[in-house]
This record gives sequence, structure tokens and C-alpha cells, in this order.
Amino acid sequence: MGKLFVFMEIFSPLQKISYQAYPSIWVKRDDLIDPYISGNKWRKLKWILHDMQLKGKTHVVTFGGAYSNHLLATAAATARFGLKASAFVRGEQVSNETLLLCNLYGMRLIFVDREIYKNKQSLYHQYFSNDEQTYFVDEGGASEEATRGCSEIIDELHEEQFDYIFCAAGTGTTAAGLLRGIHQHELQTQLHVIPVLKGGEFIANEMGKYESNLDQVNMHTQYHFGGYAKTTPALLHFIKSFASSTGILTDPVYTAKMFYAIYDLLQKDKLEKESKILAIHTGGLLGLLGMKQKLNEL
Ligand SMILES: *Cc1c(COP(=O)(O)O)cnc(C)c1O
Repeated sequence: MGKLFVFMEIFSPLQKISYQAYPSIWVKRDDLIDPYISGNKWRKLKWILHDMQLKGKTHVVTFGGAYSNHLLATAAATARFGLKASAFVRGEQVSNETLLLCNLYGMRLIFVDREIYKNKQSLYHQYFSNDEQTYFVDEGGASEEATRGCSEIIDELHEEQFDYIFCAAGTGTTAAGLLRGIHQHELQTQLHVIPVLKGGEFIANEMGKYESNLDQVNMHTQYHFGGYAKTTPALLHFIKSFASSTGILTDPVYTAKMFYAIYDLLQKDKLEKESKILAIHTGGLLGLLGMKQKLNEL
């Protein structure tokens, strides 16, 4: 039992960067928690695995797309603690870097048709009703436990006060956790959320399920670059320019969209010039490798 708590003492460094002519910003380097695994996915799993342990379960069953950072994080974490993991993967069987690593970490991958995938509970019961050790974890790890884990990012800031904190959002769980931390520490900080999908307005509703007061939340829904996992040449050029002048890699699905948004808002004078800005680098760098071809053309 002790094992889990030792590893799960997550902490990531804070780094000040300057990029081109823009004012300096701070970056919370959750990408450095692990070289391959999305920082926020570790944070989300922390209290999920804790709850699982309390309930005496040893086998995680979860869900995701073929490029899911959540699947990889789950595979790595369960391997580290000697737990079992199975995952339903949306769509026909494919091979890529993410699934390759999941497989090496010993995760059982079950590819299911997109229609069938939609009914997660029924899949879970169909495959695992006889296994008393299983523990259901929703797609992306979205849960109350995950929100709690992400709120700890704010605990780690200690004395530092920021005017704005930026994060990318897919389900909004990470953003909800940050908001919870802001509330718990009674900070004046404004949270700026960059949905990475089209129609990102729904993220506010999702956040509202975990934290009801959204007064300190600012949504910027115009930085989806065509939708989830879609890119444009401008975004890919930004990744290269940002990496070569700061030493920080960003992924095209999440964090590049967030950093792009920060500099675009600064350039358009939408953020106060003297403000102190913190960007949460949630990780996800394996997403870069999925775009090898496009990046090679830069
Ligand atoms: C999953 C993920 C996110 C989005 O987190 P949500 O809690 O689903 O909003 C952001 N960044 C990276 C790198 C991710 O892997």
C-alpha cells in the first residue's frame, strides 16, 4: 500500500521564459514529470489509483482513442505498481507510438467499433462482469478524483501570485481542478482556458460539474485550429519557433494551441502588459511523433 504514495508525490518545476519580443511568462513544467506521459494524466490518476487501492481492486479498465495520452499514462502507472490494466480502444486496430508503449507496459488492448464504443458501461460488463478485481475509469480519467489531483498544481505554487493562469482543455477536468485550487487558496488569479476542440463552449458546463462558481474563468474558444488533433501550418511553425527559442517542446493537440493563444492574445493587447502569466505545460509530447511527416516538411 505504501508504494503508491511514495511515487505519487508529484512535483514539477516552475520556469521563467522569454519568447521573441513578448514579456516573460512562467511555465509550470508538468511535462517534466515523465518523459513520455502527459503530466496532467499522472495528476488525474493519482487519486483514482488511491481510491482503487482503498477498495481493494487491482485491475483498471479504461477507454480511449488510439492516440490517447490517458491510455498511455494508465498503462505506465499500473505497470509501475504491479496492477493490471485493460483498455477499450475506439475504432479499428492500428499501430502507433502510443499503443506500442501501452503494449510494452502490459496493457491489454481491445479494439472496438466506434458505435459499440459509445456504450462504455455495457462493454465493461460484457467483458469483465466475472472479474471482481476490476475498477472502471472513464475516458480521459474524468472524475472527482482527477479534479482533486489537478488542484494540487496550485498547491505547488506556494507564494507565487499570478494574474492569469492558462491551460489547454479537452474534457475540462484539468481546468476544473485548477479552478478548485484557485478557490481553495483564495487567489485573485483569472483562469484562461483554451479548448482544443471545435465548439469548446461546452467545457464551461463540464467545469461547472466540479466547481460551480465560474467567475474567475475566461474561455477562449477560437484556438481549436480546425478541431481536435487538427493542425494548421501556422501552428506547426509556432511549435518549431517556440522550441528553438525556448528549449520547450509543445504538442500539436494541446499545449501548442495554448501557448499560441497566449502570444496571440498578448500581441492583440487582450492581456494587460504588466500582468504575471503562468502557463501549465500539461505534457503530451508523444503527440508530436504522431505528426512526424508534417513536421519533417517544416
Ligand atoms: C488530456 C490532456 C489535456 C486536457 O485535459 P482535460 O482535463 O481533459 O481538459 C491537456 N493537455 C494534455 C497534454 C493532455 O494530454
